[in-house]
Amino acid sequence: MSEGNHATGWDVDDVLRIRVRRVGPIDNAAYIVACPETRAAVLIDAANEAGKLIEAVGDLDLIAILETHGHADHWQALAEVQAQFPRAWTGAHEADRGMFPKPPPARSLGHGQLVEFGRRQLRVIATPGHTPGSICFYHPGYVFTGDTLFPGGPGATTPPLGHFPTILESIRAHLLPLPLETMVFPGHGGPTSIRAEAPYFPEWVARGW
Ligand SMILES: [Zn+2]
Repeated sequence: MSEGNHATGWDVDDVLRIRVRRVGPIDNAAYIVACPETRAAVLIDAANEAGKLIEAVGDLDLIAILETHGHADHWQALAEVQAQFPRAWTGAHEADRGMFPKPPPARSLGHGQLVEFGRRQLRVIATPGHTPGSICFYHPGYVFTGDTLFPGGPGATTPPLGHFPTILESIRAHLLPLPLETMVFPGHGGPTSIRAEAPYFPEWVARGW
């Protein structure tokens, strides 16, 4: 995955084209997700190192910059990337709006909302718990989970914005029911799958983090 496909420049090249860029001091994963049939793309988390993200977008038609949540390590490059692609709109969940620098993302992304790019769309899944406005983005076969779900369990639930029972409920109600083959692309670290993570849910509940 991290090596990518040197022939095409895409890390995943199937129903969606996905480029991952690992950026910043705590190894954030930012994703460029493109429609294979058009040049339309979205960026999930303008996390850091704007130059790397801008280069990865290249000459794709960037429709939107989507923020999984408001923690600062996920938006360090937001202003710079948007300045480079002024036609791209920015979106985040309303509940995290106050965590962003001014101006905050322009559009409010709520549960069930569809983000269209070319002939593809991502569905917003509200998954509060890591932060109140944490969201995931789903396309059949793929889910981008921000800091809600990592390989090995839920993201941190540090008070006051984090809440462990809430993140567990988000994962139980909205992520574990996804098809088992769904690949999980988290906001830090490498990919996993619903099949790999679901069996451990009772352990996460029992350990309490
Ligand atoms: Zn976070």
